[in-house]
Amino acid sequence: MTDASRSRESQPTHRLPREIAVPDDGLLAQRAYPEPPHAYRTPFARDGARVLHARAFRRLAGKTQVFTRMPGDRATDHFRSRLTHTLEVTQIARTLATALGLNVQLTEALALVHDLGHPPFGHAGEKALDHALKAHGLGFDHNLHALRIVTWFEERYASFRGLNLTLAVREGIIKHSHDYEADEHPELAEYFLDQFPPLEAQLIDLADEIAYLTADLDDGLDAGALQLDQVRDSVPLFRGCHDAALAQHSSARPRLTTSEAIRRMLNSLVTDLMQEVRRRIDAGGITTLEQVRRAPARLAAFSPAMEEKRANAKRFLYDRLYNSPGMEEVHAHAGLVVEGLFERFMQDPDLLPEDHRILIATEGLARTVTDYIAGMTDNFIEQTWADLNAR
Ligand code: MG
Repeated sequence: MTDASRSRESQPTHRLPREIAVPDDGLLAQRAYPEPPHAYRTPFARDGARVLHARAFRRLAGKTQVFTRMPGDRATDHFRSRLTHTLEVTQIARTLATALGLNVQLTEALALVHDLGHPPFGHAGEKALDHALKAHGLGFDHNLHALRIVTWFEERYASFRGLNLTLAVREGIIKHSHDYEADEHPELAEYFLDQFPPLEAQLIDLADEIAYLTADLDDGLDAGALQLDQVRDSVPLFRGCHDAALAQHSSARPRLTTSEAIRRMLNSLVTDLMQEVRRRIDAGGITTLEQVRRAPARLAAFSPAMEEKRANAKRFLYDRLYNSPGMEEVHAHAGLVVEGLFERFMQDPDLLPEDHRILIATEGLARTVTDYIAGMTDNFIEQTWADLNAR
């Protein structure tokens, strides 16, 4: 190896200008309740740890990501749960932040917290909860619910409610995947709604996409819900990666060439995203966080060619997996249980546990019922529903 190639290998090629990364001090590192700095941990490392130790985080283990079972299928324990999905997003986001020279510990905290607000039964559960709340002039949004959990619902400290996370993490929770309008959400005024979030937060949404596109193909194929030929025919990104795997490992077992294809797909999405961020930063002459915030568009994005492939893969998963024939039954069951439970608790608040019932006075009944249901795992909500129906 020549000296030149050795130094090329050891130097990250996508590092962004330093002032683009969120600093470990300053406004974004501040907490609602001031706390003394820790002797040897950054504020964002502490936030990641606070999320990891939260009760709502542990419950992600019992929440559906896409499916825990297919209709009529054997039960399995190795499909992704929301917890393992979260850990995969964290791994991808950490890779991206490290290569780009962003604040890695902030990125990790944001990835760990990104799905904290999801109710049981995946998106079907979220839809049902939102529908039930609409009748009471309210709505359910998992990002806003995650903010509610970390600012208020979790109780671990004697001096304040919530986890007292830094401003950067709270801003990232609501803005990683969605831009909220200031006039519709006056309660979010402190989160710079007229600006884009820092790149650390922008990356989370795309790391999330990369994680679930690859994982759901993997789980779908593994479960037999998707067929290899069907995925090859409909998802060009997978086909290209699968062809490359077959060419390199012509005699490997099909299961392993599929796994090699998924691995290549993940890597190509991450690499493309990294290169496109770098390209947009260069093209815009962007050198500071302030410029990231005020850029004409989000700077974390795939290249146009990869974006087309990503959208295609996502469409395929929606049509053939998430909303495939046979899944209606699973979604209908989720809707029935969530909305049914919601109505039972609304009619008879005495059915709520004492520690939730005492919150009705300040939070209102509908929001209190929602907090209780949204916190449930899939097993717990099934059990609660069965118990109430057996009365
Ligand atoms: Mg997610």
